[in-house]
Amino acid sequence: MGSSTYDFSEETVIVTGGSSGIGRAVARRFGESGATVIVADIDETPKDPDDSVPTHEAIRDAGGRATFVETDVSDPTALESVVEGAREFGGVDVMVNNAGIFRGGPLLDLDVETFDRVYATNARSVFVGCQAAAADMIDRGVEGRIVNTASISSEYAQPNHIAYDPSKAAVMMLTRVAALELTHHDIRVNAVAPGGVTTQIGAEDDGSRVPEEERISKDNPMGRRASPDELAGSYLYLASDDASFVTGHMLYVDGGHAIY
Ligand code: NAD
Repeated sequence: MGSSTYDFSEETVIVTGGSSGIGRAVARRFGESGATVIVADIDETPKDPDDSVPTHEAIRDAGGRATFVETDVSDPTALESVVEGAREFGGVDVMVNNAGIFRGGPLLDLDVETFDRVYATNARSVFVGCQAAAADMIDRGVEGRIVNTASISSEYAQPNHIAYDPSKAAVMMLTRVAALELTHHDIRVNAVAPGGVTTQIGAEDDGSRVPEEERISKDNPMGRRASPDELAGSYLYLASDDASFVTGHMLYVDGGHAIY
């Protein structure tokens, strides 16, 4: 068994949240496929202690082209600057809106500031990222592609997820509405919906993380979580010509979790 190879050598790809976890794996795979990769993250340092080298350096070490732009996606103007900056590399062809955070807590306890922070980071950033990238793609007349990171949480509710799950439901609908509005501009918009993935998301959160991990392994038909690398190919597929008739789609990469 091999994995598919794609040629993105003429293309510039922005990956938000590309320093760690899923975004890092996606950025590296685009880098291996010849793309110029712009890693837009609030922190250059990978969260996983096993990853010692920042993503853009790892891509360059492997012979690829990549740069890092310090970006807080919850700042409503930040992604417009990143998209503008991409013009230096020919302009964005593929926008991956992936950055996200997890904060747990029940409805009766969660404070409004935490809810707003989760929503601004996970959902409003996707609105802003789609808007900035699409406006620039239309300006330049390119057939753009946008891939957002949704989640099984976009459709399946869990206790203590009163901020996270609604933010991911919004990503699903942002993807669908944007896809409908952008088809006549030759821009496709899709989402990858991961199940449990072995990343550091939520590691800085309170105690709700551990039981959730146990639950994910127990409830998943494959009995485990995915590695970030098992997610990466689906982003390249959705950005490739193989998916030329796919838009507004949620591609579940979850070991069967959503149908269980
Ligand atoms: P991660 O914590 O490993 O990586 C997230 C990255 O986003 C980090 O590099 C972090 O620095 C960055 N980031 C956080 N806040 C940011 C901000 N305000 N501005 C810019 N960058 C910011 O997590 P991950 O698991 O790789 O998560 C990536 C995406 O996948 C998220 O949208 C998450 O909701 C989604 N997801 C993860 C899982 C999972 O089980 N890990 C499951 C479903 C969906």
